[in-house]
Amino acid sequence: MDIDILELSERKARFVLSGVSVSFANALRRSILAEVPVMAIDEINIYDNTSVLFDEQLALRMGLIPLKADTKNFSMPEDCTCEGNGCPTCRVSMTLSAEGPKIVNSGEIVSSDPGVHPADATIPIVELKDKHKVVLEAIARLGTYRKHAKWQAGIVSGYKNMPVLTFKECDLCGECVKVCPRDILKIEGNKVEITDKGLIECSLCKLCEEICEMDAISVGYDPESFVMMFETSGGITAAELAVEAATSIKTRAQKMGEILDTL
Ligand code: SF4
Ligand code: SF4
Ligand SMILES: [Zn+2]
Repeated sequence: MDIDILELSERKARFVLSGVSVSFANALRRSILAEVPVMAIDEINIYDNTSVLFDEQLALRMGLIPLKADTKNFSMPEDCTCEGNGCPTCRVSMTLSAEGPKIVNSGEIVSSDPGVHPADATIPIVELKDKHKVVLEAIARLGTYRKHAKWQAGIVSGYKNMPVLTFKECDLCGECVKVCPRDILKIEGNKVEITDKGLIECSLCKLCEEICEMDAISVGYDPESFVMMFETSGGITAAELAVEAATSIKTRAQKMGEILDTL
C-alpha cells in the first residue's frame, strides 16, 4: 500500500491511496465518518432559559457544536473504569451563562478542562432579547457517529478511482479540449496531452471520449488506486482522524480474527 499526500491542513486532507482494494478504500471512508470518537455535549442541565428557544432546541444546538479535544486523554463512558458513573476521564463539565440583548456564540461556553472547548468560537447558539437569560451546565462525553450525528468526526469523506487516460494518433480537432469541464486536456505539438492541472483532476465524466469521432481517446481507471479526500468537524485534526480511522479498521479486524480463532 502506498500513500501520496496531495493536501494536508488542519481540517482537510487529500491523498492518493494505491495498492488497495475498493473494499479497503470504502472501509476507510466509512471509518473516517463513523468510527472515530470525538467529544460532544451529551447531557444538559438548564437552570434558566427565558430565550425564544425551548429547552430541547437549546440542548440540540449545544450538542451539535464540534468540540476540540485531545481524545487520547479520555475514555468512552462504556469503557471507563468508573463503569459509566461519570469521572474526569469520561466527562467534562461546561457552563454557559448569558443575558441579553445579544447573540450568544459558542465562544461563551466555559469549560472546566482547558483542553476541551468549542472548535469554533463563532457558532451562534441563540439570540437573547433584552433581559432574556440562559444559564446552563453541559456535560461532554466521547462518542462516535454510530450513536449520534453529533459525534461525527469526518463531515465529508469520499473517494474516486485514479483516472487513466489513453490517447491514439488523431487529427487534433481539439473538440476534447473544448468539452473537458476540468480543463485538463491540451494539444501540444502533434498530440493531446494532460495540462499542468494533472490527471488527478479528471472527473471520469467521459465527455472527451464521447465527443471524439476518431475513438482516439479512452477514459478508464486504476482499480487499485484511489484519490481520497475528507474534512473534519474540527474536533480533531485531519492527520489524527486518518490515523485513528486506520487504527479502528485494524483493531476491528484483529477482534474478528480472535473470534474466528475460537471457532
Ligand atoms: S482525441 Fe479526438 S477529439 Fe481530441 S483532438 Fe484528437 S480527434 Fe479531436
Ligand atoms: S473524462 Fe471528463 S474530466 Fe476527464 S479528461 Fe475527459 S472530459 Fe475531462
Ligand atoms: Zn469515567
